[in-house]
Amino acid sequence: IQRTMALIKPDAYPTHKNDIVARIIKMEEFYKDHAGKPFFEELTTWMSSAPIYGLVLERPAAIIEWRNLMGHTNSNIAREVAPYTIRAHYGTDGSHNAVHGSDSPENAAREIMAVFGNWEAE
Ligand code: ATP
Ligand code: MG
Repeated sequence: IQRTMALIKPDAYPTHKNDIVARIIKMEEFYKDHAGKPFFEELTTWMSSAPIYGLVLERPAAIIEWRNLMGHTNSNIAREVAPYTIRAHYGTDGSHNAVHGSDSPENAAREIMAVFGNWEAE
């Protein structure tokens, strides 16, 4: 794998930073399983609109363990059914829910590749 330096320069930063980052991150690809759903446009636009922070978590049953810690997709429901979860604490509603977690080993591999590239081969 190879690295390059990308800078958004002063002429573009104030007005075009989000559009340029959106092109780079291409959240449409990340969320391709949801293409065609009514919230797809809102979700991908929101996810590309500002910096996000990515982690690869590793432990036995990491996928279900992390999903249990996140809680229900809809933060309002999470507050009712599992108030100790991250989405109950830090999420807002059914679309703005603070955190993402992969739902299968296949999607985890695809999503890690989309965000970090082939980092283990470096
Ligand atoms: P994630 O994939 O983010 O870990 P999830 O697997 O619980 O969450 P998905 O069904 O995969 O939920 O939906 C992906 C994301 O799309 C959700 O986290 C949420 O931000 C948004 N979303 C899901 N359903 C809706 C909805 N009905 N209305 C608006 N946004 C939604
Ligand atoms: Mg999901």
